[in-house]
Amino acid sequence: MTVTGAIWREQLTSEQRAVLGRDAGLIANPRPDVLVVGGGMLGVATAAAAVDAGLGSVQLIEAGRLGAGATGGATGLLIPEPHQWSDPETFVDLERASLQRWRYLDQVTPGGLGLVELDWIGLAPDPGGLAAHQPSTVEWLDADKIAKIVPGLAWHLGGALIRHQARVNPLRALVGLAERLPSVGTGVAATAVTVRGDLIASVATSAGDISPGAVVFATGQPPVLDGLELDIPCDRVKGHLVVTEPSAVMLPCTVAPVATPLEDGRLLAGGTFDYGDESPAVRDEVVETIMGGLRAALPALRGIGVAYQWCCFRPRHPDRRPVIDRVPGLRNAWLTSGHFRTGILNAPATGMAISRWISAGKPPPEARAWSAARFAGRR
Ligand SMILES: Cc1cc2nc3c(=O)[nH]c(=O)nc-3n(C[C@H](O)[C@H](O)[C@H](O)COP(=O)(O)OP(=O)(O)OC[C@H]3O[C@@H](n4cnc5c(N)ncnc54)[C@H](O)[C@@H]3O)c2cc1C
Repeated sequence: MTVTGAIWREQLTSEQRAVLGRDAGLIANPRPDVLVVGGGMLGVATAAAAVDAGLGSVQLIEAGRLGAGATGGATGLLIPEPHQWSDPETFVDLERASLQRWRYLDQVTPGGLGLVELDWIGLAPDPGGLAAHQPSTVEWLDADKIAKIVPGLAWHLGGALIRHQARVNPLRALVGLAERLPSVGTGVAATAVTVRGDLIASVATSAGDISPGAVVFATGQPPVLDGLELDIPCDRVKGHLVVTEPSAVMLPCTVAPVATPLEDGRLLAGGTFDYGDESPAVRDEVVETIMGGLRAALPALRGIGVAYQWCCFRPRHPDRRPVIDRVPGLRNAWLTSGHFRTGILNAPATGMAISRWISAGKPPPEARAWSAARFAGRR
């Protein structure tokens, strides 16, 4: 499904938009050392990591345009620390490492990746409303302090302040990474693989066959290809997002669960979890609910309309954690899937883990937690 209606594409220059459709229908290198299948954030970040690691020639193929899947519709928040309340430590460590890598990539990429530094406030009735013990990165602010920092907030609530998080326009960041890739073919879909022994010998695509040294599948959900036997449970969860018209309401930082401020006085809100809704269409009632919540929290927004509204699907494994693994039974194929609600954040660290694995021939320690074997027999 291609995400339409998101603000992110509108914020790109025409040159940046052209990168999203790079070399349509072309495979520049049919015998690459590394083939990456999938041009979302995971695929592009992994291809970039493979180039940086000196793994030889790298070819990426994408069935549609780059960022056409969940990546082009994400909020783009890079906020590891609030996940201390909801996720295991290993996962938060992956997120922290990835945010560090994002910052590094933003610095070394000519023109940057558009990373914006951002603090985060999570509103809660009392300090115990988030967790009994606050981690050291968290500063608890009482309701009066919150009222000073977030003027116009209708709710008299305290909150947890976490500094030094970040956000990106996911398409802007994707373009920055993709510009560094030597060979990208958009509009090229992988359809089948030929396996000889424990190796993928070739990948059939809509633009001809590719004979790669190694293959990485980064297709959101695990790939469904003739000749590839994969049995990893995965579904998807729809989410809606809304961007308001510009307003005089200036949020100083992300205020959860209210909104994130964008560059020009617009607010980005939503990120709903619309379980069971498989329709690709935006639902007006969900947009109305998001706007109703926004206006209730910030009454000055009354009369301000919706400028952008869209929806997309998060790929999800049953335990809501990603798979970062070698394809079971194959020596030259890797897989990363099910990044659910943190795939933008975790893409650089995931790409590095896979590149290191390809290079060293053995898994890096941080990848062990994300093995596909944890779902064995669970379907
Ligand atoms: C509403 C919402 C808000 C979100 N907010 C955030 C956030 O704030 N921060 C965050 O970190 N994450 C967020 N996410 C999650 C994030 O969007 C995803 O985890 C991430 O985009 C997944 O990236 P991906 O590259 O794995 O998948 P995708 O972006 O879906 O990319 C997979 C690509 O593979 C291509 N493909 C599939 N099959 C083939 C094939 N056979 N051949 C060639 N190409 C193929 C597809 O066309 C697609 O472009 C959000 C998601 C949603 C829905």
